[in-house]
Amino acid sequence: MKVLRRMGLALLVLVGAAALFVRYATPDTAPSEVVFLGGDIVTMGDPSVVEAMWIKDGRIEQLGSESAVREAAGSDAEIVSLDGATLMPGFIEPHTHPLATALLGSAIDVGGFTHDSRAQMMETLHEALGGFLPQPWIIAFGWDPIMIRNLAPPTLEELDELSPDKPLVILTQAMHEAFANSAALREAGITRDTPDPPGAAFGRDEHGELTGSVLEVNAVNYLLRALPALPPALTELMLRWTLADYARGGFTTIGVLGPVGRAEDPIGLLRGLGDDPHAPVRSVVYGLPSQLDLDEKPDTNHDTRFELRGVKFWMDGSPYTGGAAFAEPYADTELTREELHLKPGHMGPLNYELGAFIEELGRFHRAGYHVAVHTQGERAIERVLDAAEAVLKTDPWEDHRHRLEHNALITTEQIQRAKALGFELSFFTDHIYYYGDRLRELVGDRAERYMPVGTAFRAGHRATLHSDNPMTPIGPLRVMR
Ligand SMILES: [Zn+2]
Repeated sequence: MKVLRRMGLALLVLVGAAALFVRYATPDTAPSEVVFLGGDIVTMGDPSVVEAMWIKDGRIEQLGSESAVREAAGSDAEIVSLDGATLMPGFIEPHTHPLATALLGSAIDVGGFTHDSRAQMMETLHEALGGFLPQPWIIAFGWDPIMIRNLAPPTLEELDELSPDKPLVILTQAMHEAFANSAALREAGITRDTPDPPGAAFGRDEHGELTGSVLEVNAVNYLLRALPALPPALTELMLRWTLADYARGGFTTIGVLGPVGRAEDPIGLLRGLGDDPHAPVRSVVYGLPSQLDLDEKPDTNHDTRFELRGVKFWMDGSPYTGGAAFAEPYADTELTREELHLKPGHMGPLNYELGAFIEELGRFHRAGYHVAVHTQGERAIERVLDAAEAVLKTDPWEDHRHRLEHNALITTEQIQRAKALGFELSFFTDHIYYYGDRLRELVGDRAERYMPVGTAFRAGHRATLHSDNPMTPIGPLRVMR
């Protein structure tokens, strides 16, 4: 007991010290006037590249030739040479989950970016679980049946053998599926009689016994509700580190599309960074419906580092679990049959009936929230657009900026309809980069029109691209390639 208490104290001291380090490692006062020169300065305007830039009190005062800018800035400004490097505006990540990334930073990594086979992944788990793990639940992250070929899901026996007493949860890379041992299922109160949440399922064998598989967001969230939250100070520290990773990646603003991740008050945590000039990036947050209070209006002040802007829904699930609500069945292949365990003719479910979604969308729309909806399959997209058309008829809103997220198989007609209804499209192009060589096994020839970014641009959309981190790594240049 004494030892445990001492360890707890040591951990607190460590956390405190690290928090202080993060707070004071950044200078309190940046120079009020700076001139950058000596490299290409990309303006995203006309002219597109200039020689020099003068910043005063945090705002760009002048762009132009070195001589003109030097003269205008005078002698008070600090001169910073780029030494031939390129200076450009910060990137905006339109769709990411920093809290999940922060918390998964301490998870056991079994990902397809670091492993080549199931044997290697099981070896990693055995090794990690063989050591001393102080946390009350063991989380592993990155199980990836698309990246790792012939990856049979872990059985409940395997999971219980890995961790007989402590809850163990393995999250897939797509985070739309998890595998839980008996202890985790028990602590979450999931039994053979627990009803499946909408659009989700607890895996069961032919006798109705739980298999440990937890399929789709609503079921994963149900499971993880039982996961004890970390102390807020520790969560905040981990969040700051993650936000700094976005800044290092070149981002200055991130869209938090559903603050998922176990914390007592995820939105409060992000809001807490809003007034902090040291917060590494600006967060624009789309809360989960359950996290939002409709009596509170979304923020309209764009000058802080936190903005509560919208609400996030999931209309369907992930293509890699069978959750995407495509218009035609998944392809009948070894991948879909043996590894994803889909029945021939499988079609992913929709999470909302039309009437129910008109109701939900309408509530947030009328309260002034931008509504963002996860939609991968054509049926999911159709349902959201049908609901939006009904809502916009009774409650028109010129510049509503509601969004469709990911859009794996959005059709050309739907792209045009989305444009006509004023929807913004955000695409998850890493599906092509990381999983492109297996898409044909998932959706057959429809792989040809997967993530149709070009079609969206040609239809007049100002579409955006995202990495949905932690699903794929932070890396704006890769995402744009
Ligand atoms: Zn997401």
